[in-house]
Amino acid sequence: MDDTELTKAIEGFPIRSWLQKHTRVYSGGNVVYADCPVCKGKKRLGVYRQSRLGFPLATCGRCKDGGHHNGVWTGATTIPSFVKLLEGTSWRQTFALIHKLSGVPEPPWERPADQKPEEVPADAIPLKDCRDDEKAVLMLRSRHVAHLVETTSLAIGGKYDERVILPCNYQGRYMGFEAKGTHVAHDPKSLYGTNMETQLTVYTALSNDDRREDLVITESVLDAETFHTLPINAVGCYGGFKEEQTEAILRLGPKRIYWFLDGDAWTKLWPAIRNFLPFVENYVPPMLDKQDPNSLGPEGCMNYLNDAIKIEAELDLIGFGLQLGRRL
Ligand SMILES: [Zn+2]
Repeated sequence: MDDTELTKAIEGFPIRSWLQKHTRVYSGGNVVYADCPVCKGKKRLGVYRQSRLGFPLATCGRCKDGGHHNGVWTGATTIPSFVKLLEGTSWRQTFALIHKLSGVPEPPWERPADQKPEEVPADAIPLKDCRDDEKAVLMLRSRHVAHLVETTSLAIGGKYDERVILPCNYQGRYMGFEAKGTHVAHDPKSLYGTNMETQLTVYTALSNDDRREDLVITESVLDAETFHTLPINAVGCYGGFKEEQTEAILRLGPKRIYWFLDGDAWTKLWPAIRNFLPFVENYVPPMLDKQDPNSLGPEGCMNYLNDAIKIEAELDLIGFGLQLGRRL
């Protein structure tokens, strides 16, 4: 995704003429006012071309106050989310529509050479050529991700010395690599190749097509790969979920999301889930403090998938937390 082109398209999006297809519109200018198509509140919808947050925003005070939006949205959202909401389209279709109506062509994904993600170091040794008792091989085996031995290598020398190089993809597109430490002296535990957009993109371990509508969100590459043998797709958020990754995740088109963040990230769950509430069903597994998907292993993850509960409001999560013995 070329963000500059998308930003241009969003800024040039003809809010007024587009909104007229969905509701009654009152004025143009910097803020377009309209009857809210969700709660029907007269003139309650305002679409700001330049909000205080620095990007265009659609808000309805009535929906925001609660009770009128039927859980469809939170009463404030970005232009792409709002277009998607009213059009009922997939993310891909939504972005295509925004580009079409704004007249800013949808660019291919190619980036200039100097911004391309760093390639896997040429002198790294493929792990499949290493002995079975090589430390890096043992590490992957012990962490239930032995299948990665085929695609992973070991850096020799340089800034990634003796780190495991895990190539990272977003839906088959090479995005860079994680250089994961193999011993305690490796600090930080994970380094990433240069020009890798770990804030904006996620690692996709899309293992099969059977359950495209279900998606597990995890914090890391190895956590996501733990789901490799399970009939469900998983993504890794390169060291924890970031709000900016919302788009990359929703573009995968899930209908149900299972939040397998590390147990000690419990307080980050609600702020994360809020971003997704208008679009997908959200489920949370009974993850305890010191647990993460990789430590649970595939079997433990499968059990947690079955035990995950649906979260529709913050209170659901608080209640579930209490059941698990979590303090507020
Ligand atoms: Zn409303």
